[in-house]
Amino acid sequence: ARQFFVGGNFKMNGSVESIKKIISYLNDAKLDPNTEVVIAPPALYLLLAREHLKPGLEIAAQNVFDKPNGAFTGEISVDQLKDSNITWTLLGHSERRVILQEDDAFVAAKTKAALDGGIGVILCCGESLEQRESGKTIEVVTSQLKAVAEKVKDWSKIVIAYEPIWAIGTGKVASTEQAQEVHAAIRQWLKKELGDKTAEETRIIYGGSVSEKNCKDLSKQPDIDGFLVGGASLKPAFVDIINSHL
Ligand code: 13P
Repeated sequence: ARQFFVGGNFKMNGSVESIKKIISYLNDAKLDPNTEVVIAPPALYLLLAREHLKPGLEIAAQNVFDKPNGAFTGEISVDQLKDSNITWTLLGHSERRVILQEDDAFVAAKTKAALDGGIGVILCCGESLEQRESGKTIEVVTSQLKAVAEKVKDWSKIVIAYEPIWAIGTGKVASTEQAQEVHAAIRQWLKKELGDKTAEETRIIYGGSVSEKNCKDLSKQPDIDGFLVGGASLKPAFVDIINSHL
């Protein structure tokens, strides 16, 4: 069985004080021991988070660069993450694809660099409202994943996060049917492109307005293996979401 996985993407939120507060809340909470928990604070606070978060809970960067070192102002390398005991990174979040104009090939190159360096990748994909309304959801999502599959054959350290753009930060969560349908299609695609084992073992998590209210029903879907949580990961409700599978 696939281990349930819940990520908290803080995005560009928080301060030294508020991040310490969230972490001490997580450290003290009773968390489902069978759920893998990873939080992604802004880069500036990764070391602070690693210093305070208890062992067993992991930390992700929100992004990483695909070059090992050198003249790349503003970027962070895979080795620097490892040096700081950061074991995961998000990649391909729609906010980076849309606002920072990252394309599929760039996301794929960074995914390869992270995995080659031994960092796990939470690989985000998802369609816009316009793409959904024109019936292109599965095509968009699989083409985002295909760019990675062209460069990476071993997906054992990838967690796929399906995050429909229209559901992010809108309070408009995908229905259980909508989410399950896309997750099943992604698993089907994994089976076809990368084989039975990868399809069976890869966690596919859902993101987009996940809350303590809607997480239970979503978590019961056969192809939903966890969540990537934005807004609610900054609040006590995050613990209920981590424990949704109990
Ligand atoms: P919200 O949970 O705030 O909708 O954000 C989802 C997200 O983008 C997580 O990466």
